[in-house]
Amino acid sequence: MPETRDTVILGSGCAGLTAAIYTARANLKPLVLEGHEPGGQLSITTLVENFPGWPEGVQGPELIENMKKQAARFGAEFQMAHLISADLSAHPIRLNTSKGEILTRTLIIASGASARWLGLPSEQALIGHGVSSCATCDGFFFMGQEIAVIGGGDTAMEEALFLTRFASKVSLIHRRESFRASKVMLERVIAHPKIELITNTVVEEILGVEEKSVRGAILRNVVTNDRTELPITGFFLGIGHEPNAKMFHGQIDLDDDGYIKTHGNVLTRVPGVFACGDVQDRRYRQAITAAGSGCMAALEAEKFLEDHGH
Ligand code: NDP
Repeated sequence: MPETRDTVILGSGCAGLTAAIYTARANLKPLVLEGHEPGGQLSITTLVENFPGWPEGVQGPELIENMKKQAARFGAEFQMAHLISADLSAHPIRLNTSKGEILTRTLIIASGASARWLGLPSEQALIGHGVSSCATCDGFFFMGQEIAVIGGGDTAMEEALFLTRFASKVSLIHRRESFRASKVMLERVIAHPKIELITNTVVEEILGVEEKSVRGAILRNVVTNDRTELPITGFFLGIGHEPNAKMFHGQIDLDDDGYIKTHGNVLTRVPGVFACGDVQDRRYRQAITAAGSGCMAALEAEKFLEDHGH
């Protein structure tokens, strides 16, 4: 039988690492399971300009690395592992991870959200071969090339603007006429000479599966039903994120879009199980709010352990 830990934190983004700093300082020796995307979304961004305390901005990966060092300094442990399944009804809670079984009295779920895909077979076949969900990771590979970005929110705007640094032309494809992106971002996109807006349009297929390299996309105008072929070599998704909470389905409450439902900010319906960051926040989704809720989850875990005599 493995020893029972006081607290395990799922996820190593802003929320998880803040929870790790606080629980480590409370001497709970937290174990952080780093998950599929260590460092979370901040580790694949560039400059973060709105995290308080950094008047000149800070690189996302640097911010994350600093948080990790801070947590480690107070005794947090890190494991490159992910959760396979969990039994939240057991006492202690049982976690089946890629590195074996773990028992814990409290669990802080900070598993974040991952990029959403269109779900086309051609898209899935070409991930890493011209199809990407991370402009800041892959933009550099498209120097002087024509590419497309899909989406009508701030992520798509940000990706399109960022990609103009490398690409010769960026086609921004959106399925509706109006955009949910903030006005200021949309205006920057409209004014940019390298960006062309293609509205009322969906992507039916990405071309290049046999060649294993994107060479175009079949678009359909949803008003006229006309189909056109857009010659591009890069295809970037900017259509939002999905919470990583599927593995808890049936054990804690999830809303219609799969976000963990919490009350009192970070409490789930299972005593001793807390959720923080983007996995439970469909509204704010900011680094600072994720960090704030990570702190709350840690304080709640500490209180739970104290109330239960640990
Ligand atoms: P959003 O949910 O705001 O936007 C997603 C976009 O993708 C929508 O335009 C949506 O279309 C489109 N979309 C979703 N699914 C599909 C699909 N299957 N096919 C085609 N299009 C699809 O997500 P974002 O990631 O853009 O933003 C999330 C939050 O993060 C927002 O609050 C945003 O303001 C914030 N953010 C802020 C930034 C900043 O300030 N620098 C940068 C990035 C994000 P439709 O509109 O038709 O639903």
